[in-house]
Amino acid sequence: MKIWLDGGLQDIESARVSVLDHGLTVGDGIFETVKAVDGRPFALTRHLDRLTRSARGLGLPDPDLDEVRRACAAVLGANPMPLGRLRITYTGGHGPLGSDRGEHGTTLVVALGETGRRPDSTAVITVLWTRNERGALTGLKTTSYAENVVALARARERGATEALFGNTVGQLCEGTGSNVFVVLDGEIHTPPVTSGCLAGITRALAVEWTGAREADLPMDVLERADEVFLTSTLRDVQAVHRVDDRELPGAPGPVTAKAMRIFEERSGDDLDP
Ligand code: PLP
Repeated sequence: MKIWLDGGLQDIESARVSVLDHGLTVGDGIFETVKAVDGRPFALTRHLDRLTRSARGLGLPDPDLDEVRRACAAVLGANPMPLGRLRITYTGGHGPLGSDRGEHGTTLVVALGETGRRPDSTAVITVLWTRNERGALTGLKTTSYAENVVALARARERGATEALFGNTVGQLCEGTGSNVFVVLDGEIHTPPVTSGCLAGITRALAVEWTGAREADLPMDVLERADEVFLTSTLRDVQAVHRVDDRELPGAPGPVTAKAMRIFEERSGDDLDP
């Protein structure tokens, strides 16, 4: 397996970054996960726009997007696979031991993993831990992901594949790696980015393509929604058949099934050549 590091392809076994890389020591880094179908990245321009937004939010230098594109193409070319996930990681680079930034460069790593198609439906749990809708990192796709790791582990313990967070004012927010949609009386709703959720790329496409409405939603909407679904780069649109102990029999319901169909039909349009 070849990855991109320091301006070129390297073997994954021998590629090395500094043990004082700020991505490792203080989580000073950002990332993107990009789906690749037959070696073609999906929605790459949108991912690169978000990478730049995240870098600016953290105060990192703008990533060199020409290099990132070259890196993605090189890694995809070197590791052919039918369905893959590109992982672009960009950090503050080798730095001092503490949190101070100091003078240092950045680190760019582009790696690729094979992935399979997700099941059409899944179980989720809710957690009482909250997303902070007004934090310094809100809306940025940073490598500070430990809270998501903890919540996902809790979901796994309960036979689920995702944990949903509310925010500090009790509104529904997002999952550890997905955005959430609910269907009420035939209409699709999703929390706005002001809830503290990541501006998911799949979420944006789903809103565009299904006419879903962005609205503040109380956490207990999950107890009465007719249908619930998740969106993310690796899930696309995925129905939810259980939220905590509440079963949603027949998932995907008709509205979710339609959203899945629309997504499948239209998502071929945004594959890079
Ligand atoms: N929310 C969080 C916290 C995420 O990490 C992700 C993706 O990894 C998403 C939402 C979904 O975003 P996207 O559709 O861009 O993959």
